[in-house]
Amino acid sequence: MSEKCDVLIVGCGAAGLYTALSLPENLNVTVLSKKDDTVSNSSLAQGGVAAVLSFENDSFDLHIEDTMIAGQRCNDIDAVTTLVHEGPDQVRKIMEYGVDFDKNEDGTLQKTLEGGHSRRRIVHHKDTTGAEIVDKLLAQAAERKNIKILENRAVFKLTCVKNGIRANVLTGDGQEEYCAAYCVLATGGIGRVYKYTTNPCVATGDGIRLAYELGAQIKNLSYVQFHPTAFNSDGREQFLISEAVRGEGAYLLNCNKERFMQRYDERLELAPRDVVSKAIIIESRRTGSNNFYLDITHRDRDYLLNRFPGIYEGCLKYGVDITKDLIPVFPCQHYLMGGIAVDLNSRTTVSRLYAVGECSNTGVHGKNRLASNSLLEALVFGRRCAEDISNCVKAGMPAPDDFSDHPVSLDGAPMMKGLRTEIRSIMQRSYFVMPANADVVRMGFKRVSEILARLQNGKFRITPDYCEALSLATVAYIILKEVSEK
Ligand SMILES: Cc1cc2nc3c(=O)[nH]c(=O)nc-3n(C[C@H](O)[C@H](O)[C@H](O)COP(=O)(O)OP(=O)(O)OC[C@H]3O[C@@H](n4cnc5c(N)ncnc54)[C@H](O)[C@@H]3O)c2cc1C
Repeated sequence: MSEKCDVLIVGCGAAGLYTALSLPENLNVTVLSKKDDTVSNSSLAQGGVAAVLSFENDSFDLHIEDTMIAGQRCNDIDAVTTLVHEGPDQVRKIMEYGVDFDKNEDGTLQKTLEGGHSRRRIVHHKDTTGAEIVDKLLAQAAERKNIKILENRAVFKLTCVKNGIRANVLTGDGQEEYCAAYCVLATGGIGRVYKYTTNPCVATGDGIRLAYELGAQIKNLSYVQFHPTAFNSDGREQFLISEAVRGEGAYLLNCNKERFMQRYDERLELAPRDVVSKAIIIESRRTGSNNFYLDITHRDRDYLLNRFPGIYEGCLKYGVDITKDLIPVFPCQHYLMGGIAVDLNSRTTVSRLYAVGECSNTGVHGKNRLASNSLLEALVFGRRCAEDISNCVKAGMPAPDDFSDHPVSLDGAPMMKGLRTEIRSIMQRSYFVMPANADVVRMGFKRVSEILARLQNGKFRITPDYCEALSLATVAYIILKEVSEK
């Protein structure tokens, strides 16, 4: 029998957890995570949360304007206004849940600066803000009788049923089914479609693929953010050197150990991410070298150890002491601005299907996300999603009544090896920071279309590997289609 719940939330990062906590306690809520409940983009967030928490030297209008400038004014102004106006209350709410943001000696909140912000407005927990938020939200959820969190459950198929949505889920040793009146996709990013990304293994775009298969509108998937300063290593998952390091004064240097941002933008190291990433790529062509560095050695050692303990430890693992050494950096995939199209209440174009957080496209970020606006987006639109569901329940929307089994046959041929690697190479070649020339994009799109058709039409065994390959192929297909049509 399918397990029944009022609300099924697919994803256990900041967006999924905050949505669950914002739902009324008379609704049964099940939250699923593909791996352990702390493996998510949310847990890795370093910099912090941007919000206007006091009007001394800051204003909603300034935060809105900074967000619009970073987004190249392709943002949805209603979504941005909602984000900025409703954000501070959500930040205060997570503080009530126990999130401990760093304070000054006088007890006021410490605020940092990141690229594109005209004011210090980013609150943080050292450089491990995301882990602090996820830990406290998980602890809060554990106290709620109506919330059940289940780990190692990968949703691989959604079906619209009468008055609800059914989810087929892979577990370690078989499959389960859930039937819910409302389903919220909170599956995070798509980083793993690239060869180099800051995102963890769960970021394969599953939610986008599931929504796409249901016919939901997917919007601006080619709006991909490349972070300019990931630690330059051969690893697939790149260690991020937060923008807050530049916010606190780090210089960006080229292979000759010279600052160069003055050639590209008057905001220098604190220009928005897309500008700095592009500057690095153009500078690398000019100098013929991919060697770039961050230099924060001019700041006091004790200050750095206290302010950036995670980055200090992370770099030390690669033999780099940030208090004395230059940090080697290079851009890599980091964030997705586009996603499943939603309205201001997080509704997708499919009835009873919602999307929140990084997998959604609220229009808040436009073409380029302003630093530290995404955790805020997860909170603001997670709460709005919960409120909308609550209103639908109050209005007497009927619940599903069919809980019979509809298992999907998992049997089939093993999937060919190497497809995921091939997709990543195509994406890295066709669209990294800037689109490659039209021929390369066209060839990439053609090959990705072939891979997708093969995965969709072949009778393959349904495994986590197959499902993720299907998600990556779907995401790559939509991105390159958009890029080739521009
Ligand atoms: C290194 C790094 C640093 C960052 N720093 C900041 C920052 O300082 N400030 C900021 O605002 N933003 C930052 N971001 C971005 C921000 O962390 C994310 O955009 C945001 O946390 C996304 O939250 P989410 O809940 O939407 O997704 P996630 O936190 O990624 O959660 C996704 C969840 O979905 C689950 N899932 C995925 N597929 C399935 C499936 N098929 N079935 C079941 N579950 C599934 C995963 O297991 C996971 O639980 C950073 C991101 C990274 C990677």
